[in-house]
Amino acid sequence: MSARLDEKLDLIYRDILQRNPGEDEFHQAVHEVLETLGPVMSRYPDFVDKKIIQRICEPERQIIFRVPWQDDKGEVHINRAFRVEFNSALGPYKGGMRFHPSVYLGIIKFLGFEQIFKNALTNMPIGGGKGGSDFDPKGKSDAEVMRFCQSLMTELYRHLGEYTDVPAGDIGVGQREIGYLFGQYKRITNRYESGVFTGKGLDWGGSRARKEATGYGAVYFVDEMLKARKDKIDGKTMVVSGSGNVAIYAIEKATQLGAKVIACSDSGGIIVDEEGIDVALLKRIKEVERRRISAYVEERTKATYTEGGNIWSVPCQIALPCATQNELNGKDAKQLVENGLVAVAEGANMPTTPEGMRIFDEAGIAFGPGKAANAGGVATSALEMQQNASRDTWTFKHTEGRLHEIMIEIHKAAYETADEFGSPGNYVVGANTAGFLKVARAMDAMGLV
Ligand code: GLU
Repeated sequence: MSARLDEKLDLIYRDILQRNPGEDEFHQAVHEVLETLGPVMSRYPDFVDKKIIQRICEPERQIIFRVPWQDDKGEVHINRAFRVEFNSALGPYKGGMRFHPSVYLGIIKFLGFEQIFKNALTNMPIGGGKGGSDFDPKGKSDAEVMRFCQSLMTELYRHLGEYTDVPAGDIGVGQREIGYLFGQYKRITNRYESGVFTGKGLDWGGSRARKEATGYGAVYFVDEMLKARKDKIDGKTMVVSGSGNVAIYAIEKATQLGAKVIACSDSGGIIVDEEGIDVALLKRIKEVERRRISAYVEERTKATYTEGGNIWSVPCQIALPCATQNELNGKDAKQLVENGLVAVAEGANMPTTPEGMRIFDEAGIAFGPGKAANAGGVATSALEMQQNASRDTWTFKHTEGRLHEIMIEIHKAAYETADEFGSPGNYVVGANTAGFLKVARAMDAMGLV
C-alpha cells in the first residue's frame, strides 16, 4: 500500500483486513480513504469516540444470492449475484449493477464503499450501494441476457424500492439490461415505480443526458482543475482508456471543448488516431453494431490498431482512465509524466493503483479521483429520480446545465476542503474529506443506528 496510516487508523484498518479476508479491492479502497482522514480525526475527536469510521466501513446489509438461468440451447447455468447496501445516511442506497466475470464480493464492496462518498459529494439525497454478478454478457443473445436479468430480479425485487434501494448500470449493464430488470420488477410488484431504477430508456422514464453524464462530467471536472491552474482544455491532446459509455461521451465532450482525443481502447487492444477520434464512427461500432474497436481502422485507414497495446504509452497532456479498476499502474504513471502529462481524471472507479497515485502526486499532476471526477453519472441519476418523483421530463439543455453546475460545485468542494485540511491542490484529500464529513455528520445526527 502507498502511505502509512496513523496509529488509530491503522488499528481500524487491521481490524477491517481481519474481518474481511480476501477482499483486496475493498481493502485498497478503504486504505485510500483512511490515508486521508488523519487531520479529520484530530479535528473531530467525537467521531472517533462514536466509531463513525468503523460504522462506515461495515455495510448496513449485504445480500448474496443464486441466479439460475437457461441458455438458448437449454443448458442450465448458475451465477452468483450481490447487492451491498452500504450506507443510507443521506438517502436510499444508490449505485449501479456490474455484470462481469471478475465480480465477487470484494469488488462490489469496494464499489459500494466509494459510492457512499461519491454520492455525498454530489449534494443530492442519495446513500451508497452497489450490486452485480459474475455473469458475462459478452457473446450472449438478447434472449439469454433477458432470462438472466429476469431470474436475478425475481430475488432482488424484494430488497429494492424508490425509498429503499435504487440500482442503475455499470460495466456490462446498459439500457438493455435496465429494461429487462425494470420490466421484471414491474411485473412482480405490479407497480410502475419509475424511481426504483435509473438509466432507463427515454421512452419509459429515463432522463436526458444520463447516458452522456459520466463522460461529460469527467471532462467538466478536468476543465475546472485546469482553470484552477490558469490553464485550459482547448488545444490539449488527450488519451481515454476504454470505449464504453463513459469513454465515448468523455471523448465527445472533450472534442467539443477543443481537445484532441487521439487514442482509446478495449480489452483486446488500442486504437490511435492522430487526427482525433471520430466519435460518430466509434458510437456506431460500439452502441449500434456492438463490435470490438478493431473495426474502427477498417473505415479510418490512417488510424492504427495495436492488439494488446498499452494505452498509457501514447504521449498525451490529459489522461482519462475510463475502463476499470487498477488499469493504470506506477510504471504507466511514470511514463505518462515523462511524456508531458498535465492532468488526470478518473472516469472509471479506482482505475489508478496507489503507486500510480503517488507518482502523479509527486510530479504535481492535477489528479481528479473517481469519487469526484466520475460523480456526474450518479448525480444525473439523482436528477432522473427527481424527474420521476415529479412525473416530469426535462430538456437535454436543462439537464446538462444541472450536471455542469453539480460538477463545478464538486470541484469547488474538493478544492476548498483540501486547502482547509492542509493539502492544497490534493483532490484526493479534498474529495475523501468533504464526502466523509457530510456522511459522518448525518450519521451522528441520527444516533447509533
Ligand atoms: N455505476 C455508476 C457509478 O459508478 C452510476 C451509478 C448510478 O447512477 O446509480 O457511479
